[in-house]
Amino acid sequence: MAGEPQADCLFCKIVAGEVPATIVHETDTTVAFRDINPQAPTHVLVIPKAHHRDAAALAEAEPQVAADVLRAARTIAADEGVESTGYRVVFNTGPGAGQTVFHTHAHLLGGRGLEWPPG
Ligand code: C5P
Repeated sequence: MAGEPQADCLFCKIVAGEVPATIVHETDTTVAFRDINPQAPTHVLVIPKAHHRDAAALAEAEPQVAADVLRAARTIAADEGVESTGYRVVFNTGPGAGQTVFHTHAHLLGGRGLEWPPG
């Protein structure tokens, strides 16, 4: 069922504390941890605790939690010192866009120049 933990989901296991992660921020509805393969000096993944396959599914099912994810990203950007220099929040949505983990996650990237268009 949408929102329920999935036994085969890596990020549900991080939420449950069953897989280790370097957690930098947590709220009632979100968890944020450092990406294990960082693409920038600051690379944090912000996820809803509830399981949804991607950002579109989260926004449809729980729009308030989607807002919580964005609010957490802004707080972490400030904590990491990248708010004033600029940062990027990316939701890869679907395999064609590079999504590999099918539990909604925002990539928060900052701390270096970020080019546009992205690769
Ligand atoms: O957008 P995408 O689905 O490709 O992002 C998944 C991200 O999860 C990757 O950047 C990967 O490095 C990260 N990851 C992680 N910890 C894990 C497994 C994957 O930070 N244990």
